[in-house]
Amino acid sequence: MTEETWGQVRDELLRIVGKNNFSTWIAPLQLTGVDSGIARFDAPTRFMRDWVSRNYADHILRELTKLGAPVDRVEIRVPELRPIPAKAITEKPEPKPRKVARAADEAELPGAPLDARFTFDSFVVGKPNELAHAAARRVAEGGPVTFNPLFLYGGVGLGKTHLMHAIAHELSLRCPEKRVLYLSAEQFMYRFVQALRERQIMDFKELFRSVDVLMVDDVQFIAGKDSTQEEFFHTFNALVDQGKQIVISADRAPGEIKDLEERIKSRLQCGLVVDLHPTDYELRLGILQTKAENYRAQYAGLKLADGVLEFLAHRITTNVRVLEGALTRLFAFASLVGREINLDLAQECLVDILRASDRKVTIEEIQRKVAEHYNIRLSDMIGPKRVRTIARPRQIAMYLAKQMTTRSLPEIGRRFGGRDHTTIMHGIRKVEELKGADRQMAEDLDLLRRLLES
Ligand code: ADP
Ligand code: MG
Repeated sequence: MTEETWGQVRDELLRIVGKNNFSTWIAPLQLTGVDSGIARFDAPTRFMRDWVSRNYADHILRELTKLGAPVDRVEIRVPELRPIPAKAITEKPEPKPRKVARAADEAELPGAPLDARFTFDSFVVGKPNELAHAAARRVAEGGPVTFNPLFLYGGVGLGKTHLMHAIAHELSLRCPEKRVLYLSAEQFMYRFVQALRERQIMDFKELFRSVDVLMVDDVQFIAGKDSTQEEFFHTFNALVDQGKQIVISADRAPGEIKDLEERIKSRLQCGLVVDLHPTDYELRLGILQTKAENYRAQYAGLKLADGVLEFLAHRITTNVRVLEGALTRLFAFASLVGREINLDLAQECLVDILRASDRKVTIEEIQRKVAEHYNIRLSDMIGPKRVRTIARPRQIAMYLAKQMTTRSLPEIGRRFGGRDHTTIMHGIRKVEELKGADRQMAEDLDLLRRLLES
C-alpha cells in the first residue's frame, strides 16, 4: 500500500467521521508500514491509541480494503519514548525560593469546596459521556500530561462539574503530593480583582503558578472580561510550559465562546476538546437506577413499582439535574404520604416538571438546528436554492418537521417558504430512502433529533 492509498482513505474517513473527529483522531495517525496483512500506525499518545483502536480501527480497515489494500488488521502503537539524555536528568531544576515554597505550603490552595458525592464511582457512563469520562479518568491517573488542556464542554447539567470534582477526588487519593486547584472562572476573576485591589498580584501569580493541576469550571464566564482573560492567559501558558495539567469546562466549544480572545481560543483548542452530548434514554435510565438504589437504602421499606424509572427516563429529557430533582422529590413525597412509588404518584407529584419537559419542538427550531449543523444559512432553508448542499439539509429539516411535530404537510410547506405539500412529501421520501443506505445521514438524523429533544 502506498501513501497515496492512505491519502484516499483519509479523505474518505474525513467524510465518514466528520471534521472534528477527523482532526482529533485520524489526522495525527502516522502510517508506518504494511506487512503480512497488518497496517501499522503510530499514535502520539496511549490514550489516542486506545481510543482510535476501539472506535476507528474498523472504519480504517474497511476503507483500506475497499481500495484494495492487502490488509486484514490494523495495529496502532505509540512509538517508544525516546530515552532522556543523562544530562537532562542530572540538571535538577533550581529549587524554588524558600518564600514561594512556604507560601504555597501554608496556603491550603483555597479552591472551591468539592462535592463529596461527585466521584467517578457515582458517575454513570453512557454513550453520550463516554469520551469525556475516559479523558477525565486519564487525567485523574496523574501520569505524564498527554493532552493539555482537557477541555470539557456541554449543556447545563450534563456532568462537567461532576467530572472535574471526580478528578480532584481521585488525584487526592492517588497523588496526595500533587497540588490540585479547582475553582470556577468566576472565582478566578474575584481572586484576581481582589489581588489587584490589595496589591497582592505577585502572590496571586505565585499561587496559581505553583499548582500541579489547575481546573477552571465554566470558563465562558470570563468572556468579555479583558484583564481577567489576560491574566488567565498568562497563568495558562505558564502552567502549560511547566508541563502542568489544566482542565477547563465551558458550556460550549472554545471556538463558539463569544468575546473570548482569539489567542485564548486557539490555546484552548490545543489539547483535547471533548463534548458531553445530551443524555440518551439509556443513560438517563442508568442514572435513575443508580440513584434509586441509593434512595432505597435511605428510605427503607419504600416500594418502587416497575416502570416508574422508565417513565421518567422517557419523559424528562432536559438534563440530569432535573432528573435527579424529580427522583428526590418522588422519594421524599412517597415517604411522607406513606405510599408506594408508582406511575400515578409520579404523575401527581411531578406534574410541573413533566409539563415543563413536555416541550414541543417547533419547525423553526428544527430549521435552525439543521442549518447550523450543515453550516448553511437559515434563510436558505426557506429560499429557492436547489444545489444539493442546500437542498439536502432542507429535506432533512422537512423530514424532522414531519416526524417531530404534529404539523400537516401543507403547514410544513408554508413554513418552508410556501412550498407545495407534494414538494414536502417528496423531500421526506427522499430522506427515508437515503437514510437506509447512507450511514452518515442516519447518524446525522439521530444526532439532530437528540439535540432537538434535549
Ligand atoms: P454541569 O456542570 O455540566 O452543569 P453537573 O456536573 O453539575 O453538570 O451535574 C448536574 C447533576 O447531575 C449533578 O448532581 C451530577 O451529579 C449529576 N450527573 C450528571 N451527569 C451524571 C452522570 N453521568 N452520572 C451520575 N450523575 C450525573
Ligand atoms: Mg457545572
